[in-house]
Amino acid sequence: MKIAVVGTGYVGLVTGVSLAEIGHQVTCIDIDHEKVKKMKAGISPIYEPGLEEMMQRNIEAGRLTFTSNYSRGVKSAEVVYIAVGTPQNEDGSANLTYLEEAVKSVATQITQSIFLVIKSTVPVGTNNYMKQYVKKHLKEDVKVEVVSNPEFLREGSAVRDTFEGDRIVIGTDSKKAAELMEEVNRPFNIPIYKTDMRSAEMIKYASNAFLATKISFINEISNICEKTGANVEDVAKGMGMDQRIGNQFLQAGIGYGGSCFPKDTKALVQLAGNVEHNFELLKSVIKVNNYQQKLLVEKAMKRLGSLKGKKIAVLGLSFKPNTDDVRESASIHVVNELISQDASVVAYDPIANENAKELLPPSTIFAESISDAIINADCALILTDWKEIIKFPLQHYQEEMSYPLIFDGRNCYALESAKVAELEYHSIGRPIIN
Ligand code: NAD
Repeated sequence: MKIAVVGTGYVGLVTGVSLAEIGHQVTCIDIDHEKVKKMKAGISPIYEPGLEEMMQRNIEAGRLTFTSNYSRGVKSAEVVYIAVGTPQNEDGSANLTYLEEAVKSVATQITQSIFLVIKSTVPVGTNNYMKQYVKKHLKEDVKVEVVSNPEFLREGSAVRDTFEGDRIVIGTDSKKAAELMEEVNRPFNIPIYKTDMRSAEMIKYASNAFLATKISFINEISNICEKTGANVEDVAKGMGMDQRIGNQFLQAGIGYGGSCFPKDTKALVQLAGNVEHNFELLKSVIKVNNYQQKLLVEKAMKRLGSLKGKKIAVLGLSFKPNTDDVRESASIHVVNELISQDASVVAYDPIANENAKELLPPSTIFAESISDAIINADCALILTDWKEIIKFPLQHYQEEMSYPLIFDGRNCYALESAKVAELEYHSIGRPIIN
């Protein structure tokens, strides 16, 4: 099938490459010329395990092309996916201007009927509005069937998630569109759940809000564990053995971040408010997360007193391992807070240093390795559980830091190992090792 994908970010590029991998003829369109130039040369503009190899394979096979030119991109496409960003507005609501712009560009360029598949995360009712919006901008007398197809991939395992996802959600009131989407997605061999457009849109927000709730819940439990002497890891394990609860998303830490959970939870609160529903529970989830992101700096300040002039190593800047994405990463908030306390911050991330440079204050020093970052440091904060960080030998902290004081926001190490390495080790929801 001939498919165009608009927007080549974490969702669009992975979608386009994966659709090519299962045999479709795919053209990816992006207005960012630099990105397009890179992708044409077989270079992925984002870090995502397995993506670049798959991209190159499909370019070579002649199934995948890239362009900034809409008329070339949508020419003779039967299906057009939209995967542009829907960031948050200042009031927390979803910003739909990129979506409108992209849909308008498609509508004004097509000369054939298409199925328009919206992958971007959008508030309930948006796709219905898109139906009218696209009609208004059509230049030719063609038919456009709008389908909601929210995306559930996770950065860091996006390729795997696309091929091994739990479900594909399709929201449409058209039988023809539902059949077409089944045909497009059949080779993925993933269960397809069909529903109406509004429910599909809500499934996405409700899923993210529920996962965020699990995280804030276990973080609250971890804070109580710290005060009562219980160990949150054992608690989470014991809870997760109950199949009604499940063992995922019960890892206590310094809160959720990234380009989805923070904005989608706020957008759902806003959406609920629009229909005069006060989403009290989700508001608390957000509040707990904001508190949790500040927790490590508070602990460091309590332990060290003033942070002024202290050399603090920050390990991990991406919002989670295996991605270069630093948008709304807890690490960004932590570094900003440390610098506002006049600490001297030396930060290290295996992949995300470059992206973080764009968001962090100029006084942040970037290290080339964990050892570079911790050398002579007064304290180290572990913020992302990259494999490289988890596997870093604990005795190096002991040997290389001024004093081996660790605040581990991701519970990377077993308490016993910290004891053996003679560290002063503070983690989340577990007893302090001293
Ligand atoms: P992104 O910011 O990484 O990428 C968006 C891309 O769209 C950019 O390359 C940008 O240049 C391009 N773009 C913007 N306007 C355009 C236009 N008019 N025409 C063509 N290209 C245009 O975004 P993302 O993280 O991939 O997210 C996309 C959507 O998917 C959002 O709604 C997001 O909420 C949702 N989503 C994201 C994830 C995730 O993990 N990132 C997961 C599920 C759903």
